[in-house]
Amino acid sequence: MIVDRQGRRFRNLRVSLTSACNYACTYCVPDGKRLVAAQDELSAEAMARGVAYLVEAAGIERLRITGGEPLVSPKLEALLDAVKPLNLQDISLTTNGQLLARKLPVLVAAGIQRINVSLDTLDPDAFRGIARGGDLATVLDGIEQAAAAGLRIKVNMVPLRGQNLDQVLPLLDYCLMRGYELRFIELMRMGHLARDGQTFSQQFISLEQLLAVIGERYAYQQAEAPVDATALRYEIPRQGYFGVIANESVPFCRTCSRLRLSSTGWLHGCLSSSNRHRVGELFDQPRHQALPALQRLLVRALADKQEVAFSGGATVMKVIGG
Ligand code: SAM
Repeated sequence: MIVDRQGRRFRNLRVSLTSACNYACTYCVPDGKRLVAAQDELSAEAMARGVAYLVEAAGIERLRITGGEPLVSPKLEALLDAVKPLNLQDISLTTNGQLLARKLPVLVAAGIQRINVSLDTLDPDAFRGIARGGDLATVLDGIEQAAAAGLRIKVNMVPLRGQNLDQVLPLLDYCLMRGYELRFIELMRMGHLARDGQTFSQQFISLEQLLAVIGERYAYQQAEAPVDATALRYEIPRQGYFGVIANESVPFCRTCSRLRLSSTGWLHGCLSSSNRHRVGELFDQPRHQALPALQRLLVRALADKQEVAFSGGATVMKVIGG
């Protein structure tokens, strides 16, 4: 097993199925241009072989399919079918929910039991301003249908000063009433936000500021979370839970167990590092040739992890998958 001197190892793999997206969120795509799929995307078969190799070489236990927007990819069904026999502890998906109702039968047939849906506001105007694509009512309908089909739902919200801070409580009410877990994600210094400290500071809401807003309506207490969880978890007694991925306020690099595979065949060991490692061609090789080479690259990818805290990175989520 590949372990670093802090005892970290890769357990969770995030695969970006495609870099194409039907949104152009302000914090991810500053120029607002619609993202298209890269010409040299891996096929679903190559990705699935890669996941199988990584399970063996790194000891991956859990898989999350992300993007870009995974539900726009024609490879979704083939990838889900191909990774099912790997018997991973968990396969989940992060989506903006726009195509959720339409793709729900594919997710249900593949045995997906939980999904994260990104939703930054319940206000239609603010939604258009942040996502710059899609339609709020369609997302809400998709979430409702997914919940009715038995999927566990987490809602991801990035609180942004001046854009959706007034939506923290409405979104929390919405989730608590329906039994979904809301996860706030502190804005991360990625891409243009890593270069433009002023925009980052203007928009950033810290854990402390967020908890102050929540405390205006709810009494909460910190709850248990797994050691390598990225989210701090809080309980609102008798009503439910919420989480905060407090990347800046309470860095979690010391216990990070994430590995990312881009849609074009690069491994990323850390969101905060611009290093990446080419593996696409290895996935076309037979197992006995691919595994030793992959192990060498995994050692390097693990060494890319920050010691303590995320310091910002040139890469953006749309490329390596959130
Ligand atoms: N399209 C899918 C979705 O919207 O969930 C998956 C990809 S998206 C990049 C994954 C998550 O990353 C979303 O919840 C999004 O809000 C988050 N994200 C993107 N850029 C971010 C940033 N700079 N800081 C914090 N979260 C970010």
